[in-house]
Amino acid sequence: MELLIASGNPKKLVEIELFLSGSGVQLLSPSDVGGIEDVEEDRPTFEGNAIKKACAAASATGKWTLADDSGLEVDHLGGAPGVHSARYAGTHGDDAANNQRLLKELEEVEGSARSARFFCALALARPDGELEASFEGAAYGQILEERLGENDFGYDPYFLFTEEGYKESGRGFAELEASEKSRVSHRGRALTALREYLMANTQLA
Ligand code: IMP
Repeated sequence: MELLIASGNPKKLVEIELFLSGSGVQLLSPSDVGGIEDVEEDRPTFEGNAIKKACAAASATGKWTLADDSGLEVDHLGGAPGVHSARYAGTHGDDAANNQRLLKELEEVEGSARSARFFCALALARPDGELEASFEGAAYGQILEERLGENDFGYDPYFLFTEEGYKESGRGFAELEASEKSRVSHRGRALTALREYLMANTQLA
């Protein structure tokens, strides 16, 4: 099966490749199909945006297509920044400004009241542009007051992973090796669900 990844982010391609290796899927990047059009991520949910992106690219290219959407949801902020995670402070992809705004919003909030989760939705669209299935993954923790760890991606430096096995050691997401983060992260968990689906539905190929 050929599977188009509707994302221009080369890091995502590498991570997806890792999860799908051995599943018989051959990944295509947008450049392999002559490029895909940008789709406005204007849906109120991660799943809605992932479905919109996957179905648009599948229908334009006639290929099986995978798209994702992800972000951070903070309980005290009613789920914000949510689908606006990449542009929380106004400019798309300005991680430093996004983190600064996050810390400001939580200035008066302490300890476990700073609980949050990363969430990832994946959508798999058929070559006719219809949705085949969607998958999700979450990783739970809380927002730190001071940065922890060296990795600088998104909100990672301020995210303390508090799930079973990590609580006591107080590991920050920015402290985890890439392979360990992939194993426990929202994206890794959603990709595991996708891999299991593809392995169980080999007739799709
Ligand atoms: P997208 O799914 O690539 O559009 O990511 C949306 C935004 O969510 C990113 O710009 C980051 O700010 C944030 N985000 C998503 N996943 C992660 C993660 O694993 N670590 C840190 N930030 C993330």
